[in-house]
Amino acid sequence: MIPSAEIITFGILVGIVLASSLTHLFAVISQGISVFSKKLVCESCGTFQPYSRRIPIIASLLPTRKCSTCGHESPRLYAFLEFAIFVFSIWAFSVMKPVLALQISVLFFALIGVTYMDLKKWIIPNEFVVYIIAIGVFGITVDTMNLNHSLLGLALASVVSLFIVLPQRFGSGDQTLALGDVKLCLAVALWLGWILSAYVFFIASLLAFITWLFTGVFKGFSAQRRVPFGPFVALSTMIFGIGRVLDPQFVTHLLTFRF
Ligand SMILES: [Zn+2]
Repeated sequence: MIPSAEIITFGILVGIVLASSLTHLFAVISQGISVFSKKLVCESCGTFQPYSRRIPIIASLLPTRKCSTCGHESPRLYAFLEFAIFVFSIWAFSVMKPVLALQISVLFFALIGVTYMDLKKWIIPNEFVVYIIAIGVFGITVDTMNLNHSLLGLALASVVSLFIVLPQRFGSGDQTLALGDVKLCLAVALWLGWILSAYVFFIASLLAFITWLFTGVFKGFSAQRRVPFGPFVALSTMIFGIGRVLDPQFVTHLLTFRF
């Protein structure tokens, strides 16, 4: 199937909008201002920035990339993440039905945001989680997903959440609950449904455990030492999410263990 020029153009537009939203969201989250703020602010000092900084990828090459007040410069990584989102959206729209491509593009964008924020600041911002909830609701509405599967997915995520929260509640470590991880699990479960959720939570836990073991060799073993769980959920969600939108029989294969 060769997609029409209109669909590719739409994919390019989606890619540009998502890519330019990424650094804007990073800035508003860092500064703690409303996500609906139209003004563009510096991630570091919060002063208003010229709109040319909103242009994805290219903004990092312009002379205005530095904040005129505090001299803060957006990390080069941002341009790379924007590029990845842009390319991913175009790829998605060129190989999938537009309704699926839109969902997976937004999911990719939100999971990149979650991963970056969790690794950098140990938070899973609501600003990105709402995007994942939105595509879950959208998927159910346009019938790419089964409502019962989504509700069972939520039930499964609730059980998994107990395992995330309880050890911290009763552990002697810091008393902050990993509610960000819980929100993320619930949000992805809504879109994934229970079968894919089961796989995602299993693989994510396995990867987190392996990482915990591996880093333990260098940093010493301690129950207090935390490993960010969000990035592993994000990675597994992308793998199984792409599998599902590319192969209509994917869920059946996973359910019957026949590949
Ligand atoms: Zn600044």
